[in-house]
Amino acid sequence: MSSVTDEKTEVLFPTDGDYQSFDDIDLSPLMRRAVARAGFTKPSPIQGSLIPLALEGVDVIGQARTGTGKTAAFSIPILEQLDGLEDCRDPQAIIVVPTRELADQVGRELERLAFGVPTEIAVLAGGKNINRQLRQLQNGVQVVVGTPGRLHDHLQRKSLRTDKVWCVVLDEADRMLDIGFRPQIERILRRCPRQRQTLLLSATLPPAVQRLAKSYMIDPQIIDCCQKEVAVETIEQRYFTVAQDQKGELLRRLLKREDPKQAIIFCRTKRGTDRLYRQLSRDFDKCGSMHGDMQQRERDRVLQNLRDGNLRILVATDVVGRGIDISTISHIINYDLPQDSDDYVHRVGRTGRMGRDGIAFTFVVPGEGEMLTSIEQRINRELIRDQIEGYDASPQVETAKPVEQAPKKQTRLNPMFRRVKRRR
Ligand code: AMP
Repeated sequence: MSSVTDEKTEVLFPTDGDYQSFDDIDLSPLMRRAVARAGFTKPSPIQGSLIPLALEGVDVIGQARTGTGKTAAFSIPILEQLDGLEDCRDPQAIIVVPTRELADQVGRELERLAFGVPTEIAVLAGGKNINRQLRQLQNGVQVVVGTPGRLHDHLQRKSLRTDKVWCVVLDEADRMLDIGFRPQIERILRRCPRQRQTLLLSATLPPAVQRLAKSYMIDPQIIDCCQKEVAVETIEQRYFTVAQDQKGELLRRLLKREDPKQAIIFCRTKRGTDRLYRQLSRDFDKCGSMHGDMQQRERDRVLQNLRDGNLRILVATDVVGRGIDISTISHIINYDLPQDSDDYVHRVGRTGRMGRDGIAFTFVVPGEGEMLTSIEQRINRELIRDQIEGYDASPQVETAKPVEQAPKKQTRLNPMFRRVKRRR
């Protein structure tokens, strides 16, 4: 693993070849068994670097995207160090995530990795029955996973006790700040004991995330798993130039040509999503749609259907662009260009997860060339031009040469204390 030290902070840049086996990490036999049962053979770079540091009690800023195994990277050290429910009935770790779907997903991964050790995990997401959550908290909980709004709600009701919390995870911190959750996150952090460990995961480190880290973390170790490439390497990425009024037909032709195992088609608006879904369901079976106006129960049902293979084509807004981990998704189609290049990276990251192959297509209408260029600059790679006869709008959409990304500068934070190491 390479590392760079400016005069203050060392940044670790783990790569794929650095970690060959979970045996190289000091895990309990129970955890080894759970990891093997989950089918994990070797640690991903974020796991190999974050788990040992987290077990030492160090605060860590991990730059890693979804699909790189980051959930297990923070879940394993938490599960390894939990006190049993008989010793502590109040939450010991709080994992804060931006969306309800991601909360469910993290909850499931925790349960999977807790295999063999009874562990009380509460998922406190908005849109879910609060009375059930209240009962669960009253009965005793070891780990809480939640969205900032609902966690904050529980803090105000005094149903969520924080005085025994020794680890806080902020997952997808950049996304949470984008959505405007800063006040809730800060309140959660302020309510947790100062003598705690904070793990912050974020694909990017914009100034807002750095400020949060500076105020609430102690001398964090930075791990950068995003340095080399932004979009997952195994994903083939192509684009079509197409006239606005021919997009629908091009999509139908593309779906017939590709015959995807499972595809997510991203639209910009909820209305556009509904419209395209209605059109596609006339020609293709197993279609579904998902956007932010749908009831949580309906969104859960759609995701479950996708997971179970009952849906083959999902038309969606960026609501599903982050965090959702369904390994069978083979195709991403950007029917509308995303609002910004970060959203492109997250949409495309829904496929090609953990090194599996995937392909992403992006429809570009004349006049959107600049956005295409900014995506290419962001991923430091050119998209391949694709064509289906009769649907090529503009041969002159210009693409820019990839540009070198400037190395990111990091700031060192105040060293104060380290949490005392504990192991179950
Ligand atoms: P995540 O980045 O946490 O969303 O994880 C993406 C997917 O990879 C999930 O389905 C994980 O269960 C799976 N995964 C995590 N770690 C490993 C590993 N070391 N080997 C194989 N699969 C993994």
